[in-house]
Amino acid sequence: MPDASVDRALIEFYRRAERRIKRNLQQMALSGWRTAYCEARLQEIGTIIAALDAKTRLWSTKQLPLEYKDARKNVAYAMGKALVPFNPIDEGMISVLVTATNSDVGMALRSVVPQLERVYIDARQAMITAEQVKDQVARGIIEGLTPRQTSRALERALRTGATRQLSGVLDLDARARLVETAQGRYISIMCKDGVTRRYQLRPYAEMVQKSTRSMTAAEGTLQTATALDVDLIRISVHVGACPMCIPYQGMVYSLMGETPGFPIMGPDDRTPYHPWCGHSMNPVTVEMLEANGELEEMRAFVNDPQRVVTNGLEYAEVRAGRSEGTPLEEALDAQAEAEKLRRAA
Ligand SMILES: [Zn+2]
Repeated sequence: MPDASVDRALIEFYRRAERRIKRNLQQMALSGWRTAYCEARLQEIGTIIAALDAKTRLWSTKQLPLEYKDARKNVAYAMGKALVPFNPIDEGMISVLVTATNSDVGMALRSVVPQLERVYIDARQAMITAEQVKDQVARGIIEGLTPRQTSRALERALRTGATRQLSGVLDLDARARLVETAQGRYISIMCKDGVTRRYQLRPYAEMVQKSTRSMTAAEGTLQTATALDVDLIRISVHVGACPMCIPYQGMVYSLMGETPGFPIMGPDDRTPYHPWCGHSMNPVTVEMLEANGELEEMRAFVNDPQRVVTNGLEYAEVRAGRSEGTPLEEALDAQAEAEKLRRAA
């Protein structure tokens, strides 16, 4: 079992880092964005980020192999078979997963200092501009903020994210960066849809833990199923699954195409389907489906992409042949409706 206290310790480490970075930024603002001072503070933030990187590496090296081993045990147990010995493929898989995690996290963490550097450069520029137009501003010739007012507005924006006063002083991009910094969103990640999103440190660490662990469990499950000659994999079913996951719920896939009537599992069919995905894969066999009296029902269900299940009860009905599930369109509409209500609340 992965050690839960090791998970918590990492989150706590990120939480403390978040606080220290925030304090450094506030001190930069309070110094009136003095160059030497700010550069020292940015360097300090760089040191904090490097420590986060090192801690995360320790975490993945320790926890991911345990997660993988757990998945192996679960598959063997579910199949009532003895665990096959750990082999070079397992070793290789674990090392690939750990390396990929470390490289993703390293890349994300490296985005922090440049992001904060930009905020500092924006602030410096605003101060210089205010200084240059100081006389005209004082004489009311042009409208603007004095250097002192600029400094105060920047400092407040960094605390609260309120940047209205800085319009004309900072451009839109710079103001957006300042708001994100005020919210503690320092980590930039290019998402699958091509959009860059910024995350706060602690939620980011939680997301890394959750998604790398489910990826590792998925890999351990598939490798072990293959090693034990299990061909069928069933996707779990949850209430309130998101639109991305609904089409996969309750599906049974064939790993090697050895079971007629079941679709072959493609790379997109494996869990997790998105960063916070809670879906899992479980091995099954034709014999098990037969013994449950659901073999033909499952065959019909998995070959009808327009039918889905939205909860465990409905899935039980489908497996018993008493229901054909919910039309996909209807399930997605209901999801969208629920999401709208959730947002309104
Ligand atoms: Zn999911």
